[in-house]
Amino acid sequence: MDDSYQFIFENNEKWVSQKQRQDPEYFGRLAKEQTPEYLYIGCSDSRVTAEELMGLDPGMVFVHRNVANQVNGIDMNVTSAIEYAVTHLKVKHIIVCGHYHCGGVQAAMRPQDFGMMNPWLRGIRDVYRIHQEELDAIADDKVRYDRLVELNIQEQCLNVIKMPCVQERFREDHYPIVHGWVFDLHTGRLKDLHLDLTSLAGDIHKIYDVTDNEWVVNAKKPLPEC
Ligand code: ZN
Repeated sequence: MDDSYQFIFENNEKWVSQKQRQDPEYFGRLAKEQTPEYLYIGCSDSRVTAEELMGLDPGMVFVHRNVANQVNGIDMNVTSAIEYAVTHLKVKHIIVCGHYHCGGVQAAMRPQDFGMMNPWLRGIRDVYRIHQEELDAIADDKVRYDRLVELNIQEQCLNVIKMPCVQERFREDHYPIVHGWVFDLHTGRLKDLHLDLTSLAGDIHKIYDVTDNEWVVNAKKPLPEC
């Protein structure tokens, strides 16, 4: 029998001992509740570990990961995670974090049948369609690939602010703020794309804004009276 995974349980025991040595009350407190300020939506890629790369401890970030960090409106998995984080945990920040050298984005750039993955990759192919002019003007394959990674993050941020729960919560207390970040596997660094979602959304809010609300953006300006 292959028991090569047993080292994981040994690691877990070491981790428990270390935490208890540092703070005997650690697990008692951890079990009480979670009050994370951040919702992280990232790629499932094994090299892009949310908590570790952000230096956050357990309890500090609510995490949802899928292939190529998609926010698809009919994916109950991601929409449930967002609804719970926004409505119940009341996170202050939603981070959509992609990464360069993303296999999902790379696969979407190839006109190839990926079976079960096709509907998923179509979301990224649609991002390419929306930004085709800009992307096709980039001669260098790697630069175009990197740019699609960034544009995919941008579009998923826009998908987050289309959600009623996000719009409603923002109307109440000006949170959550939505951020688009990218992780560079070569350097280990996180980069803030500083997306201006207000201008990126343009005037399309007239159909996406389901709560008669302003856009959920980084803007600090007060909302108009309702
Ligand atoms: Zn990826």
